[in-house]
Amino acid sequence: MSAGTMDKVDLKALISATADAIAAHAEELTTLDQAIGDGDHGLNMKRGFEAVRAEADAFAAKPLPDALKAIGTKLVMTVGGASGPLFGTLFMALGKEISPETNRANLAAAFGKAIEAVAARGKSQVGQKTMLDVLQPVHEALLQGKTGAEITDAADSAADATVPMKALRGRASFLGDRSIGHMDAGARSTALLVRAVAETIEAHA
Ligand code: ADP
Ligand code: MG
Repeated sequence: MSAGTMDKVDLKALISATADAIAAHAEELTTLDQAIGDGDHGLNMKRGFEAVRAEADAFAAKPLPDALKAIGTKLVMTVGGASGPLFGTLFMALGKEISPETNRANLAAAFGKAIEAVAARGKSQVGQKTMLDVLQPVHEALLQGKTGAEITDAADSAADATVPMKALRGRASFLGDRSIGHMDAGARSTALLVRAVAETIEAHA
C-alpha cells in the first residue's frame, strides 16, 4: 500500500474481499469463540458482512466518508454481540475522520482516531485480549509506512500474540485464567479483515 494509491481503491472490491474472507473463516471464528466465549462470532460477522455485501452498490456510490459511515451503521444493526457495535464504531469513526481524497497519512491518522473510538465504546485498552490488540499494531505499521504485506504480517502476529494473554474484557474475561491459551476471536477476525483490505488495495494500486 503506497502513498497516493488510496484514491484508486475500489470500494466494491473491498466489500467483496472482506465478506469473502469472513465467509471463508466463519467456522474458524466460531471455533475460537466456542473455546472462550459463546461461539457466535463467526455467524455474527458473516451475517454483518453479507448484509454489507448485499448493499455494496449503494455504498460504493457514496463518497468514501459517507460509505464508511453507512457500512458502520449497517454492521451495528446486523453483526450483533459485543463485536457489532465495536466494529460498527470502527467504520463509522473512520468515515468521520477520513478525507474524501484520502492518502496514506490521512488514513493512518483517521485509523488512529477510529481505534480511540472503539476503545472508548468498549471501555477497553490494548493488552486486554481483544480486537484492539490487532488494531493498534496495524495502526503503528501504517504510521511507519509499512507495505501491505508487512501490515498483514503485523496483524497476524498480533492475533497470535493474544493466545497467551488473559482476557480482561468481553465474555472471555469471565473465564479469568482459563482464557489463557486461546486466540481471541475478534483479534482473528480483525486480522482477516486487514489482510483482505491490504491485498485488495495492493491489487488495485
Ligand atoms: P459476544 O462476546 O457478545 O458474543 P462476539 O462473539 O461477536 O460478541 O465478539 C467477541 C469479540 O469482541 C471478542 O473476541 C473481542 O475481540 C471483542 N470484544 C468484546 N468486548 C470488547 C471490548 N470491551 N473492547 C474491545 N473488544 C471487545
Ligand atoms: Mg461471542
